[in-house]
Amino acid sequence: MRIDLDRERFEGTMAEQAAIGATDDGGLDRLALTDADREVRDWFVSKLEAAGLDVRIDAMGNTFGRREGVEEERPVLVGSHLDSQPKGGIYDGPLGVLAALECLRTVEDRGIETTRPIEIVNWTNEEGSRFQPAMMGSGVWAGAENLEEVYATTDRENKSVEEELDRIGYLGETPAEPGREYDAYLELHIEQGPLLERAEAQVGTVTGVVGLSWGELVFRGEPNHTGPTPMHLRGDALVAASDTVGAIRRLPTALGERTVATVGSLSVVPDSVNVIPGEARMTWDVRDPEDSVVETARERVLAEARAAAEREGVSLSHEDRLHVSSVAFADRCIEAVAAATEACGYDARRLPSGAGHDATHLAGVCDTGMVFAVSEEGISHSPAEYTSPEDCYAAANTLANATLELAGSE
Ligand SMILES: [Zn+2]
Repeated sequence: MRIDLDRERFEGTMAEQAAIGATDDGGLDRLALTDADREVRDWFVSKLEAAGLDVRIDAMGNTFGRREGVEEERPVLVGSHLDSQPKGGIYDGPLGVLAALECLRTVEDRGIETTRPIEIVNWTNEEGSRFQPAMMGSGVWAGAENLEEVYATTDRENKSVEEELDRIGYLGETPAEPGREYDAYLELHIEQGPLLERAEAQVGTVTGVVGLSWGELVFRGEPNHTGPTPMHLRGDALVAASDTVGAIRRLPTALGERTVATVGSLSVVPDSVNVIPGEARMTWDVRDPEDSVVETARERVLAEARAAAEREGVSLSHEDRLHVSSVAFADRCIEAVAAATEACGYDARRLPSGAGHDATHLAGVCDTGMVFAVSEEGISHSPAEYTSPEDCYAAANTLANATLELAGSE
């Protein structure tokens, strides 16, 4: 069975949410657990109720709407997040939640009975801008984060997650955990990268999430006067760091076309025009779909840094900050998404996600898959973020048909 979503209604719903926390430049400012977040949540709950779904809110404020199935107990879960970055776009998150809503509305309109229940979800604080870590609600729900620690987390004004959840009325009563077995989880999200657009594809079938390694390198040399100190007597921490920046930039060429490597932060002490830099601190961020390649990349970063430190006669220390293993999505979810793109006649492309999503946590709970919508010029976390109405609709239809396939229908 193939379904087509009501495009006009779907676009209308997207426009309604985009007005909540809207900024003058067409973006969104809907940080987690703010008044704007409360407003969009209240609006969302009213939509779930109007669609005849059973609403429940858990102790993390994750909000679910359930439609019963006829046989199997294990639900298919589908959703994303409604919170945004402080200067975010209108697609990152809401597109996935509202495509899921439109899917359930259409299934209801057509009186389709599914074998399994279907649940829709809005995860709390995916963005991690006001409260860290990102993907907080799904992390607690999946058992990857500790509820009490997360509750105690505070923002810059010292307000805690727990008190803000309570203040906006979303400190729910259901425990923030699966509580039952789930059959599968699907999430639609914008790609946030340029690959689909470059490939002139209409929609993406996501195969998994890349793994990553973050860390910090500190070079320490001899701060001294730039005038009287001869070149051969210097230990310049910034020169060693700069050499390493260049080496990291060239690293992916040697490792494969899917590797990305970045130095996003560099600071120098004392940071003065006439003092030889005595200390340089820099970060690394390397990612690849293969964990072994991430590890190789990390080792190469350290080897390049050591060589640069030795050449310059400065010392080096390093600290690993974060390691995230890659996630391979379940074959049956990948195939359900691929089959949906075919049934709808969309030009699709398979690709891994370069960024983490709530789906990363869900993959630890049940079979998981994702659909990507085209991101124009790969821009996100910006008011300039854009996905054309055609591409929004193609991704939403793909999600709907893949969901129906997993939920089973006559
Ligand atoms: Zn997002």
